[in-house]
Amino acid sequence: MKFLCVECDQQMAFAERQLPGDGTLAATFKCPKCGRVVAMLTNPMETQLVSSLGVEIGGRTVPGEPFEMIREHVATGGRADGQTGSPTWSSDAQERLSRVPTFVRGMVKRIYADYARERGIAEITPAIMDTARAELGLEGM
Ligand SMILES: [Zn+2]
Repeated sequence: MKFLCVECDQQMAFAERQLPGDGTLAATFKCPKCGRVVAMLTNPMETQLVSSLGVEIGGRTVPGEPFEMIREHVATGGRADGQTGSPTWSSDAQERLSRVPTFVRGMVKRIYADYARERGIAEITPAIMDTARAELGLEGM
């Protein structure tokens, strides 16, 4: 990313930058000929965009891995709480789930899956289902 002083047809030189810490970036560029100064202010998203293009501002690449952020977002199915993936179901638990009436099975499955995910439980077993039922007051599910 370069700035050009239109009047002088001179490439402006990087003058100073500020990274206030909230993700915004302010950079100023100065025309070496007439001394005109322009400033660029970007919001966090734009700062990430700039850095994702590998643009060096003032000889420094702005840190940030926007695509990594997007990948993680996809991997967690849109959850931003850092939990990844869905818990697996043991064969016993699957068998028990298969006895749940079809019309509520999806809902029941989701309740248990959410319960396990919130507690960082990787595999749902009948014991987990019992605990979840008792804790959530879902007797009969
Ligand atoms: Zn100029």
